[in-house]
Amino acid sequence: MEHLMVRKLRGALAWCSAADDFQIGGKAREGWEKLCVPLLQSGSEKKPCCAIGCPKDAEFEIFYEGAVRPDDSISTDACSEHVGELLTDAPVHHIYLIQ
Ligand SMILES: [Zn+2]
Repeated sequence: MEHLMVRKLRGALAWCSAADDFQIGGKAREGWEKLCVPLLQSGSEKKPCCAIGCPKDAEFEIFYEGAVRPDDSISTDACSEHVGELLTDAPVHHIYLIQ
């Protein structure tokens, strides 16, 4: 239920972005950039868990550092159940909570 409401509000916010006041030079531009843009970006991050066959939303993002190519960090997404399974033999893991 809450998800649907959030989705509706996000849609409304995105729709409002077309208003003149939100364009460059518009009165509401500053508020738009400070408040609305981060909100729109944060909610759009819903990704599925990368464990095979897992239907849950990811709660963590794991970055593997130095795994395959040292100059390249590779990331994957995991739910709380699979976050341990998705660790590899990479020398460094960075795990972030997805907000
Ligand atoms: Zn999972």
